[in-house]
Amino acid sequence: MGVRWTVTWPNSIRTPRPRAASLETGLGIYEASALTRRAKGRADWLSTQRTYEYRENPAMTKSFISDDFLLESEQAKALFFDYAEKLPIIDYHCHLSPEAIVSNRSFENLTQIWLAGDHYKWRAMRTCGVSEHFITGKAEEREKFQKWAETVPKTLRNPLYHWTHLELRRPFGITDRLLGPDTAQSIWDECAAKLRTPEYSTQGLLRQMNVEVVCTTDDPVDDLSAHRRIAEAGKLKTQVLPTFRPDKAMDVADPIAFRAYATRVGEAAAMDIGSFSAFLAALDSRHAYFHAKGCRLSDHGLETVYAEDYTEQEVAAAYQQLLRGESLAQPLTLKFKSAVQRELATMDHARGWVQQLHLGALRNNNSRMMRELGPDTGFDSIGDFEVGRPLAKFLNRLDTDNRLAKTILYNLNPRDNELMATMLGNFQDGTIAGKLQLGSAWWFLDQLDGMTRQIEALSNMGILSQFVGMLTDSRSFLSYPRHEYFRRILCNILGSEMKRGLVPNDYTLVGPMVGDICYHNAKRYFGFGAA
Ligand SMILES: [Zn+2]
Repeated sequence: MGVRWTVTWPNSIRTPRPRAASLETGLGIYEASALTRRAKGRADWLSTQRTYEYRENPAMTKSFISDDFLLESEQAKALFFDYAEKLPIIDYHCHLSPEAIVSNRSFENLTQIWLAGDHYKWRAMRTCGVSEHFITGKAEEREKFQKWAETVPKTLRNPLYHWTHLELRRPFGITDRLLGPDTAQSIWDECAAKLRTPEYSTQGLLRQMNVEVVCTTDDPVDDLSAHRRIAEAGKLKTQVLPTFRPDKAMDVADPIAFRAYATRVGEAAAMDIGSFSAFLAALDSRHAYFHAKGCRLSDHGLETVYAEDYTEQEVAAAYQQLLRGESLAQPLTLKFKSAVQRELATMDHARGWVQQLHLGALRNNNSRMMRELGPDTGFDSIGDFEVGRPLAKFLNRLDTDNRLAKTILYNLNPRDNELMATMLGNFQDGTIAGKLQLGSAWWFLDQLDGMTRQIEALSNMGILSQFVGMLTDSRSFLSYPRHEYFRRILCNILGSEMKRGLVPNDYTLVGPMVGDICYHNAKRYFGFGAA
């Protein structure tokens, strides 16, 4: 072995001693073959790197994200490894690009697959003093990654720190290093080499992560050609299905933009949209089109649910006003939104879909950055809208008309966990298990504490065993370890209560419940692939 490695020598490793070492400073030169023996599992990395730094750090003798990560009892480990780990993933809500899936896109480096579009990371970088040039600006991809690597050690206790290392572990297999400025180059190189192989294309990643179903998020005017091509190619084991997201059909803040959108709905449906009832018929035609393409869910991103009283005449007149390009007064805006939302909910019920309501985001708060970068760039926060009364009224109206679809309620404000968890019970009607669902912890709440609190609220005020479980809600193909994160947290909560005697120490009771929440409930509830 002629190759030598520079080693920061740990005191804990006594033999064999490094040669040509200055042990006083902890620095030594060591032969690769021997070092590989001492540091098992690091051989891959050693073969591509000429410099190796080993810093003494007791925590690093075991990798940070070990097999037992978050599993604090024998029961938690048994639940995770025997009942959760190997189940496929049903990702029933995400924002992946179906075009990137059908084209089987490959990524050249971590900046492309990991940093582009990830406003969670962008927010953290801004907070840690990184200039926009390195975030959304024109800096080189490698420079942007370096700035992210410099940020990561500063994100301790933010979920980004866990996610980052979970995602380096799976799919990249990196468990021997933490991401930071000094490891950035080696991690960049190692991941770039892997990203060039077929297992790391978009389709390769879905295969590797055992994803059975992906539901993308799509506008009603979308022709869904990417979904059609994926299905026709028939190569991908993962079912890629659309989700009907008609937010623009209710967004009347800018009447000119609304009129342009209504025109597009009419064109997509090849129908007239000259009256409110015609507009609804065109939307229903798109709903039917989505259904034929396998869609079984709608999704609505709303500040709160709209449930004002209105008359058909009022709403029809409001629609004409919008077509003329005239703004609606606030009360009429709320009536219009209430009518559209109710009609869309009725369509969901008619076709046996699930409606998802994502409630509570206060969006685009920084007008300067909104002008420069547009929406979804990291300038949103948790809002404090009234939730309970309008939500109850909305659900009650639909229930009264016998038109209440299966519904998932997601709250962004953690104060609403209990409110939502108790709301569900008002409208469970025994027709289907878990007809109303408390959605998994979402966006700012999609982290250890947020998931724990969602599980606690659902357990205490609803029925945890009926929960349809986790989703990624992500724009990144590297986010699938979030399902693993959720499964570990769920197993840890149940396992620790088995240990404490609060839940029977009986795997035949608790194990299948874990399996249901992680996979089987979603499989039953959504009915993907059913006629
Ligand atoms: Zn979403």
